Amino acid sequence: MNIYERLGIRTVINGNATLTRLGGSIMPSQVVAAMVDASKHFVDIIELQKRVGEEIAKLTHNEAAYVSCGAAAALTLSTAACITGLDATKREKLPHLDTSMKSEVIVHRHGRVGYDFAVRQVGVTFVEIGNENGTTPDELENAITEKTAAIFYFANPSREHLWVPYEEASAIAKQHNVPLIVDAAAQLPPPENLWRFTQRGADLALFSGGKGLCGPQSSGLIVGKESLIEAIAFNGPPHPFIGRGMKVGKEEMVGLLAAVEWYVNQDHVELQQSYEDQVTYYDEVFADIQGVTVHRSFPSEAGQPMPRTEIRFDEEHLGITRNEILQQLAAGEPSIDIAGAGANGVLINGQTLMPGEVEIIAQRLKEIVLSQRKR
Ligand SMILES: *Cc1c(COP(=O)(O)O)cnc(C)c1O
Repeated sequence: MNIYERLGIRTVINGNATLTRLGGSIMPSQVVAAMVDASKHFVDIIELQKRVGEEIAKLTHNEAAYVSCGAAAALTLSTAACITGLDATKREKLPHLDTSMKSEVIVHRHGRVGYDFAVRQVGVTFVEIGNENGTTPDELENAITEKTAAIFYFANPSREHLWVPYEEASAIAKQHNVPLIVDAAAQLPPPENLWRFTQRGADLALFSGGKGLCGPQSSGLIVGKESLIEAIAFNGPPHPFIGRGMKVGKEEMVGLLAAVEWYVNQDHVELQQSYEDQVTYYDEVFADIQGVTVHRSFPSEAGQPMPRTEIRFDEEHLGITRNEILQQLAAGEPSIDIAGAGANGVLINGQTLMPGEVEIIAQRLKEIVLSQRKR
């Protein structure tokens, strides 16, 4: 009996995405083993954070790295670092900014995401630039004042054409001595993003540990400039300031290192091919079923270069609506969670599926659609 059975909780087949509400991702056995190993000894937590950071920096071709409590905490700590540097008086004041402190963060109006609360919780206000036709470098430059703490990009390749390109933004940021930070929480794959944003001029880039990296769900990764990483650690746990409620355990630090090692050594070409094969598989399964069509959807909702399977249902022909299909999938045992697409379709994401689950989803979908038709 597994722990979820003991607790009386149904497990979920996650064909949706690396969603926090479903548990993020499944850790490979190497990651779990590293966490168990870490759990057996006491250790100086500041020293461990530093050493783990050095190793992750090497693996990701960055100057420095830091393990945070999720990407949201990475947003908060990065913002704090840009305001305080290594100034203890300023650190102690957060999130109540006084006139001696920087208090503005520049963002693209069409690049905002719900997670940006994690930046605002440091006490800063957003200065928005750009519109639906795009953003000029001048707009960015004119928005910079002596109050500007940082420029934030919430990376999403499908919206980036509306923004000032990274290289130009970085050149402007450098001229004014303002850090450029990229929230790339869900931008893995491709693995190159672990160094691409910083190579394109970002001072910091941050990722979820519990999404594409398949590390501990409560971990996050910040890579970039050593001086900023130092200021992040200065604001972070165990220091009793803004980051104290964002504690990272020794198990998570070591687990994230193992996850980054695992991730960069994966055969990503083969992984991509396995997602393509899934699309082909569903296409074959539903080839003979009238009223059901299978399509290849690309890229993912976060703009990742990764194919997903889109299945559309002819509701009239089948006598069942898309939402009824989703409800029946969710109500089954185990529960199946996939995303709706458009008015009458669903999207199946291979990134979070375990071996054998593609077949289970196909089977259940087929049963639901055919049982309805017999009535
Ligand atoms: C998921 C996500 C976050 C939050 O990441 P956590 O690791 O869950 O804290 C922040 N920003 C973006 C764009 C995300 O997709």
